[in-house]
Amino acid sequence: MDRLIVSVSGVRGTIGGTLSPQAACEFGCAFATMLRSGGDRPLTIAMGRDTRPSGPMLAHALKAGLTAGGVSVVDLGVVSTPGVALMTSKLKAAGGIVITASHNPAEYNGIKFLQPTGTGLTAADAGRLRDIWESRRFALAGPDELGGESSELRTHGLHVDAVCAATDVTAVAAQRFKVVVDSINGAGCVVTPMLLGRLGCEVAQINGEPTGRFAHAPEPIEGNLGQLCQAVRKHRAGVGFAQDPDADRLVIVDEAGRFIGEEYTLALATAFVLSHRKGKVATNLATSRMIDDVAAAAGCEVVRAPTGEANVAEAMSREGCIFGGEGNGGVIDPRVVPVRDSLVGMAMVLQYMAETGKPLSELVRQIPAYVMIKTKRPCPAEAVAPIVARAREASAGRPGAKLDDADGLRVDLPEGWVSVRGSNTEPIIRIMGEAKDRAAVEELIGQVNAIADEVIGKRNTG
Ligand code: MG
Repeated sequence: MDRLIVSVSGVRGTIGGTLSPQAACEFGCAFATMLRSGGDRPLTIAMGRDTRPSGPMLAHALKAGLTAGGVSVVDLGVVSTPGVALMTSKLKAAGGIVITASHNPAEYNGIKFLQPTGTGLTAADAGRLRDIWESRRFALAGPDELGGESSELRTHGLHVDAVCAATDVTAVAAQRFKVVVDSINGAGCVVTPMLLGRLGCEVAQINGEPTGRFAHAPEPIEGNLGQLCQAVRKHRAGVGFAQDPDADRLVIVDEAGRFIGEEYTLALATAFVLSHRKGKVATNLATSRMIDDVAAAAGCEVVRAPTGEANVAEAMSREGCIFGGEGNGGVIDPRVVPVRDSLVGMAMVLQYMAETGKPLSELVRQIPAYVMIKTKRPCPAEAVAPIVARAREASAGRPGAKLDDADGLRVDLPEGWVSVRGSNTEPIIRIMGEAKDRAAVEELIGQVNAIADEVIGKRNTG
């Protein structure tokens, strides 16, 4: 059934379906009610959107709800998700809103709510927002207390400034790198060439019109990036960059036009960061062991957080990490903005290439390689806990096993790791693992699948 998905990460739904203007307006009222529950002082939030054609409609509806609830809105227009996060913090706003469905197909859109720091809401605040929305108990303002509206168009420039302030611009620019960028006609279309221009690159852009008409399926995975790989070869570029529609994730194509895998974005960026500064790095439990190898080689520690960007950001601030991110192509440099930022990733990879003088394929080869397999299967919500419990029992006695149950279960073994967790939004479980070779990871995943077969089978027959 098509339902509005309301989770810790925000709201997702279909246009012409569940994500109606009414729903957006109600969420605007709910967010204003939540923000103003702390007192009566006037509040402002920063709001931006990706290029989806439904963005303006949702922006109008959200503004109606927010201003009716007494909150003023600074409209940033079409900007990236890290751009909204940056401006939320720079404008000292009480919160932020990004209108995006990230890598979901074009029929979707979504609303993501940010804390004043720019990171996503905590689970507790996301729960409060949902409760207010479900109860429809909105605290609406009187005629003299309505919020106002203004627009702010400096986001791209300030974002580029912030990334450049953390980059050795002179070293990168001296190389005159040739770069191909696929911004998928999304929020990265304008700001990305601005950054790469400042970094002295010669830029060939594909899918660079901010129309929101996605030229290929928007998830930046190998099957969707054939056009970029080809363009890198055609232009004889040193590197190809692909963004998702809200430009927080980055995946990389090497100088031979080969997709190197989204897990390498964080691994390469971590290797670069730790070659300059030593400190803890954070990632989630679903990210490749490459980051552990890179950190160990630099004598640094990896902090693992449950899946979800806000969890990684929280772990970074709690543990004082100098860097972090997710294996899906999301890198977080807290000096720029405490959320995933594809621009930060590009600047780091280019500076890494500039400083080492090595082509990307060689930098990739320096990192120990693994085979990672990600699977999902239908599973009734009630069966998730018994499957996790059985997998825990089965793993506890294995030699060298390290168990982490912050998010489902992850079992680290000398030969690799396997994890199993339920989804927040769909009746499925995700089983994934990684090892040095395919047979080893298939065996690890097979063991968990056998447990799932048994638990689900028993429920069906009993
Ligand atoms: Mg995204």
